[in-house]
Amino acid sequence: MKIQNIHAHFDDFEFTAGGLFTIARERLGSAFTGQVIVCTDGRAGHQFRTREETGRVRLAEQQESARIGKYDFKPLRLPDGSLPREACLQVTVPLCAAIWKTVRDFQPDYVICPPVVSDPLSGIHVDHVAVADAVRKISYMINVPHAFTPEYPADETVAILTKTPVVLNAFDEYNKRTNTFDLAVDCEDAFNLVCEMSWAHRSQITEWLPWVASPVPWPVPKDIAEWKRMRRAAYSERNAALGIASDHLYEYFSVTCWGAEPDVDALLKDLPGIDLKRSRIDALRKRLDRSPKV
Ligand SMILES: [Zn+2]
Repeated sequence: MKIQNIHAHFDDFEFTAGGLFTIARERLGSAFTGQVIVCTDGRAGHQFRTREETGRVRLAEQQESARIGKYDFKPLRLPDGSLPREACLQVTVPLCAAIWKTVRDFQPDYVICPPVVSDPLSGIHVDHVAVADAVRKISYMINVPHAFTPEYPADETVAILTKTPVVLNAFDEYNKRTNTFDLAVDCEDAFNLVCEMSWAHRSQITEWLPWVASPVPWPVPKDIAEWKRMRRAAYSERNAALGIASDHLYEYFSVTCWGAEPDVDALLKDLPGIDLKRSRIDALRKRLDRSPKV
């Protein structure tokens, strides 16, 4: 089982899908392969480091997280070899081409990306919505072999059939009160490791996030024990906002029809940790029901 997480920034993965990857790796063993794609250069979000230094530090932090979490990490490169710029990501032909190529190369069963935002109440992060939009826009193109051969030249008389994945949307903090979910995945067994992965992003959690959160207090965690206490409180708050009374590490996913047609029973079999009581399986089945509506 192969899952590819495509997100905007260094650290997004740890806060949205790191638990699912961890329990999948622990429960499925060598039957699971996970890949994390980060679609921006990480140079924008810091208050005292230069752009160049910030990008370099963030890359090293993600590599450290990947070492701890034992997942494959790749920064997305545009067809000209450059990294897309953070804080102003737009859905362009080069971005679509690069995402198309990375999905076709990895051939995942599932892609996880941020959600497309439609509610006017939603907050957004420009880079998150660009990734969401781009994934949605290339999803049909995944099995269109020559969609981006101008960017990635290939023999256009030869077509390789490529598996189209099911696309899931992860919870997005920036959407604030408009988040929703189909699947609640209990990742409590992965709590310690996920905290260790996110702790690798020290230039964010001890420098940038406390500064940018102002005037909302974000205390600077002095060590990983304090960071774990903060994460426990944050998970509790996220669960409560979604109507779940628990302090467990839950991760939340919505099912889309952007790529392959989702099959609920296959999803329940493939993805470990789905809490059947807390997921909205009946509503999901109704949403995916293709019988004629009277
Ligand atoms: Zn982000």
